[in-house]
Amino acid sequence: RIGFVMGKFVPLREAVIPVMDRGFLFGDGVYEVTAVIEGRLVDNDHHLRRLDRSLAEIGIANPFSIEKWTGVETELMRRNELRNGLIYIQVSRGVAERAFQYKDGLEPTVVMFPQFNRVQSNPVIKTGGRIITVPDLRWARRDIKSTSLLAQVMAKHAVKQAGVNEAWMLDGDEITEGASSTAFIVSASNELITRNLSQDILPGITRRTIIEIAKRHGLTIVERPFSKADVLCATEVFYTSASTIAVPVIEMDGVSVGGGAPGPVFRSLYDAYLQDVMQLPAI
Ligand code: PMP
Repeated sequence: RIGFVMGKFVPLREAVIPVMDRGFLFGDGVYEVTAVIEGRLVDNDHHLRRLDRSLAEIGIANPFSIEKWTGVETELMRRNELRNGLIYIQVSRGVAERAFQYKDGLEPTVVMFPQFNRVQSNPVIKTGGRIITVPDLRWARRDIKSTSLLAQVMAKHAVKQAGVNEAWMLDGDEITEGASSTAFIVSASNELITRNLSQDILPGITRRTIIEIAKRHGLTIVERPFSKADVLCATEVFYTSASTIAVPVIEMDGVSVGGGAPGPVFRSLYDAYLQDVMQLPAI
């Protein structure tokens, strides 16, 4: 695999970054993940805009323009013959003597690499997935896509231990979001419900696109917090992310939810999403 590390295209196995990088020492950085489906970079401008916002929120100057980011992504696809998978981008504040305070003018460290998998061929889309709930242990600025991911590492370890597909995180009685996804339910009155944007959750790019499609389909969208009890009486339950598109949920904490099978709202949104992707020009 070829990566793009500190300004150069290099074989990933040989790539190194300095030990004094603040991303390594403090988790002082942000990241993005864009899906690649049949040679198309999915929702890429939105991902790059969110990257720009994450950087601005922590006071790192965006080292590249949108055109430059897209250029490097495209070149990574070409060099790796990547048709289906992901492009990972990480920007950390840079290399400096270890101290919490940082000097202005550090050169941000950029690391990018591809991962290969067919996002659109996940068998769980047909069978439905299972989730557990875990306490949301993260910090109070979850709208920033920070590389400090200890709470998510712990949540995903619990997912593995439980042999399920994803964890939804609880703040008191309310679901905030998935460990690496946005949570959606469909209510008995056929409203599509997902938590409103705030500093409590990441503004999911797939969330945004799915809401747009749902509006086009004439669904009523309600953006508000919802509880575990709301999930138990929902007619459908699913989660979205760039790396999965959307996954229907049929069981939560060992209890059947969403009618125990992927539902029609999920199916129509998922199919429309893929259809839209295939309208994009391939690289
Ligand atoms: N919430 C969290 C905490 C995430 O890590 C992710 C995946 N990056 C998402 C939501 C989904 O965001 P997106 O649709 O932009 O991948």
